[in-house]
Order: sequence, then C-alpha cells, then structure tokens
Amino acid sequence: QAKARGRNGYQFYAASMSGEGLERLRLEALLRRAIEKNEIYLHYQPQVDIATRQLIGVEALVRWHNPELGQVAPVRFIPVAEDTGFISQLGQWVLAEACRQMICWDTAGLRVPKMAVNLSVRQFERGSIAPMVASVLQEAGLEAQRLQLEVTESVIMNTGDALGYVNDLRAVGVGLAIDDFGTGYSSLAYLSQLPVQTLKIDRSFIQDISTDANDEAIAVAIIQLGKSLNLSVVAEGVENEEQAAFLLRHGCRHAQGYLYSRPVAPDDLLAQWGQGHDEHEAGTTVPG
Ligand code: C2E
Ligand code: MG
Ligand code: MG
Ligand code: MG
Repeated sequence: QAKARGRNGYQFYAASMSGEGLERLRLEALLRRAIEKNEIYLHYQPQVDIATRQLIGVEALVRWHNPELGQVAPVRFIPVAEDTGFISQLGQWVLAEACRQMICWDTAGLRVPKMAVNLSVRQFERGSIAPMVASVLQEAGLEAQRLQLEVTESVIMNTGDALGYVNDLRAVGVGLAIDDFGTGYSSLAYLSQLPVQTLKIDRSFIQDISTDANDEAIAVAIIQLGKSLNLSVVAEGVENEEQAAFLLRHGCRHAQGYLYSRPVAPDDLLAQWGQGHDEHEAGTTVPG
C-alpha cells in the first residue's frame, strides 16, 4: 500500500516529521499556552551555610505539568522556549512569581534572605532587561538586594554588550551569580571586571569530588579564585556529608543540593524552615 502511494512529497515530509520534529512541535504548541493554563509553577531549593546549616537563600526552579505530557523537565522545555522566543515571557513570569513568593513568606514569618532566579542567554538578546527587572521588583514590593540573578558563562561570553547589560542590572541593585561555573569558557581577566558577587561551582565537579583528582583540583581552584576575587562561592549538587566536609575544609561555605533539600513547593519550604520548624530535621544543633 505504501508503494501504491508512490513517490509523494507529502509522504516524505510526513515521515520526517514523525519523530523528533513532531514531538518538538507538540511541545512548542503546548508550551505556548502553559502559562495561561496555570501549568507552570515554581519549586524552590534551599542554599545553606554548610557549617551552621542556616538558610541563606533559595533558587527558583521552573516546573511544568501538562495533562497530556505529564511532568516535563526544564532541560526538555527550556531549550524549546529559547528557540521559539517564548523564554522572554516565561522568564518574566518566573521572576514575578519568585518575587511575589518572597513577600508571601515574609508575611508568613519566614524571612528568606535571598531569591536566586535563572536567566537564559536568550533573554539578553533583545536588549537590556534591567527596566523589566526593576518594574517586577517594584510591583512585588521586594528590595533589589534580596534578588540574585543567575547567568551562565555563555551568557557573558556570547552576548554582544554583556558587560553593559550586567552593569545595568547591577545599577538596579540586584545581585549576580555565575551559574554552572567551570563548564564554560569565560576568561579570568574578563571575570574580574564583571560586577558579580557569587560563583556557583557546577555540580559535575562536586559529584566525584572525593574520587576524581581532577574534579577535586578544579573545585579547589574555583574556591581559591572566589576568595581572591572576593566572591562568595556556592557549591551545587551537594549530595553527601563527605562532599560537604571537603568543601568546608577548602573554604567553601555555601552549598545547595539534595543533602540539604530537593527543590520543594512554597508551603513545604515554610514547613521546613519557618517558625517552629523541626530543628533536628533542618539540621541545626541538636541539644544534648
Ligand atoms: P541550574 O540552574 O544549574 O539548577 C540546578 C539544577 O540541579 C536543578 O535542576 C536542581 O533540581 C538540580 N539539583 C540540585 N541539587 C541537586 C543534587 O544534589 N543532585 C542532583 N543530581 N541534582 C541537583 P532542574 O530544576 O531540573 O533545572 C535544570 C536547569 O534548568 C537549571 O540548572 C537551569 O539551567 C534551568 N532552569 C530551571 N529553572 C529555570 C528558569 O526559571 N529559567 C531558566 N532560564 N532556566 C531554568
Ligand atoms: Mg541556577
Ligand atoms: Mg547550575
Ligand atoms: Mg544550569
């Protein structure tokens, strides 16, 4: 039967669209309406002081649950959002929601010192986003100093006027962090000119820290670099006590990872870290 249809341009097209391309189109179409359908929400992962286990901040991580697709991971839909330009709208929604949440926690009696929000390289392509960030902060009633924006090295190296945009953001008063540090190609000379306050050591270096000598050397070098440039260093993806002890020994004070908490819903964060939380579970000193 396939033969009978012969060499048909449409058939060829249909066949080529049956795999990844079709999946991609479907994702695109569903994603475009995801915000208005309330399918997008945020989870928050604590950042802690390793020595005291105190909460120093949270990172907002976007989540998408679609009735047809189920839970879709950010690594699957963020690239689609970037390619279609939807990332601008999504990024602004995430920022506004994260800032709003900070005030909610304040009201509920949980003061989260800092909210970290990821920015995509594509959000920098249409010019400065500083005015948008300033208006989101004002709308939410959040002080700029309590917001930290995370950019990757690729944002900084591949954006024409990155330094100008980053300086604009600093002028608004927000903090800046370099995410996944060590995986990109930023030059150290350039790094020292950037008005950033925080380096986040990529999870890939933390993972095998006690078994892989190279990863260990890189992690230690990043910690030293942070010290020299007077930046705070946060280790990502800390999953066990061994990794935490290693970091502390080498002077890295802050961490984020499953050892402390997975990314959680706002109410769970409040339950775990709010007033009257279980001190033992939150990891603070147990009496006796
Ligand atoms: P990221 O910004 O580096 O975020 C950290 C990722 O590591 C999160 O994955 C988090 O759940 C995961 N993680 C944290 N601790 C551990 C750990 O101990 N072990 C392991 N195995 N993983 C850990 P998630 O939420 O799937 O996000 C993946 C990436 O998607 C993020 O990496 C970020 O690049 C991007 N992303 C997430 N939310 C947003 C957003 O709102 N906007 C933008 N532009 N990108 C986002
Ligand atoms: Mg991040
Ligand atoms: Mg990261
Ligand atoms: Mg990342």
